[in-house]
Amino acid sequence: MEKPHALVVPYPAQGHVIPFMELSHCLMDHGFKITFVNTEFNHARVVAALPKMGRVQEQIRLVSIPDGMAPGEDRNDLGKQCASILRVMPHGLEALIRKINESDHDKISCIIADGTMGWAVEVAVKMGIRAAAVWTVTVSLCALLFHIPKLIEDGIIDTDGFPTTQQMIKLSPTMPQFNTTQLVWLFVGDRDAQRSLFRYLHECTQAAKLANWLLCNSFYEIEPSACELVPNIRLIGPLLAGRRLGRLEGNFWPEDPTCLSWLDEQPPRSVVYIAFGSFTIFNRRQFHELALGLELSNRSFLWVVRPDLTDGPSDAYPDGFEARVAGRGRIVGWSPQQKVLAHPSISCFLTHCGWNSTMEGMSNGVPFLCWPYFGDQLQNQIYISDVWKVGLHLKHDSSGIIPREEIKGKLDELLGDEGIRARSLELKQTARKNVAEGGSSFKNFNDFIEAIKLEK
Ligand code: UDP
Repeated sequence: MEKPHALVVPYPAQGHVIPFMELSHCLMDHGFKITFVNTEFNHARVVAALPKMGRVQEQIRLVSIPDGMAPGEDRNDLGKQCASILRVMPHGLEALIRKINESDHDKISCIIADGTMGWAVEVAVKMGIRAAAVWTVTVSLCALLFHIPKLIEDGIIDTDGFPTTQQMIKLSPTMPQFNTTQLVWLFVGDRDAQRSLFRYLHECTQAAKLANWLLCNSFYEIEPSACELVPNIRLIGPLLAGRRLGRLEGNFWPEDPTCLSWLDEQPPRSVVYIAFGSFTIFNRRQFHELALGLELSNRSFLWVVRPDLTDGPSDAYPDGFEARVAGRGRIVGWSPQQKVLAHPSISCFLTHCGWNSTMEGMSNGVPFLCWPYFGDQLQNQIYISDVWKVGLHLKHDSSGIIPREEIKGKLDELLGDEGIRARSLELKQTARKNVAEGGSSFKNFNDFIEAIKLEK
């Protein structure tokens, strides 16, 4: 029998490409053939970051289409990027599908589109192909996006996404409330960028609703009330539990695996892991304060300093810092994060609270020290520290900086808190149970697979 052929279309950012790669591996385990669509820009990064000593088996076909931006243009300018995606990518995707479908034995049988690439669902509908929309964020964020028409109708935001007044919003009585100034699209650039991102998210959400299946990389127990707000959504997370050796991971930067052997030499639960995902940028003063906070803590640490983590040169550490922490601190450009978080030497995770990082830490029972940067990370932090109570969050001083003493103090408090540790381990069990045989996410995923294989 011919294998079903899924075309996988993630949003062009690291925090989307990684979980979609994971999802692709799960689909392959169920007999799917996968064609994975990156933008040309990200395709080049993924290929360049592949391990040189090839253990990666070529199981996923990587293809690319243009995102409409010039090579040197700033892809962190989300307002601009989203406008360009909508202008250029639907045609590119349609042309790609036609080309693939020209070959008889290779026809695309379904499109697995990122919920934030809802336009790809429209392409699927237009071409008579079944589609799933998959969100790699919380159900709470999906609920917010699904409720945009209601927020407009109730006069909470205008049709450009701007709050009419500053107020607290609660989407359901049992969900944490948040301020209208914290709407995800308001964290980018100027008003034009915010309007552009809002329109993009709104349009994509409406389009994604046309999909045959709505899925989300979360699990029921951590946000039950949000699930009630998006009734058709099926939770299939955490998607990451099964990373295996030699599998394509979709990193944009080459991983530094040497930190794993360094971790092997450290005592159990002794190393603070610090990583801020793919997007966060620090100013020089804050970067120094973080370095000095780690030094002051007197603890061992593994710190991911991406080449573009600071708005200046990334090796601009405080004077003498590297020499002073040489015995107990390890700094890498990009880590194999899931393996790091699963390592017994890790004591806690100083994180920006990106959703993937949150799920990865949670699945390994690692307590969090939260340092959200923007967008949904603030909501994720509220869940981590106030709802699930598996972490603490750092506070800024009156000048807007998180000072070194705060970092040291909160690390001491976090690592001395047995309650947080016990709850982290409980949450790990719940996460793992969900994706183990018989678990709710496991069942949802399998039901989806059966349905997608049956309905031709
Ligand atoms: N990541 C990694 N190595 C690093 C830092 C991050 O592999 O050194 C991965 C991490 O495991 C996660 C993704 O990059 O899967 C970041 O996604 P997240 O949603 O946490 O943050 P974003 O980059 O979207 O802000």
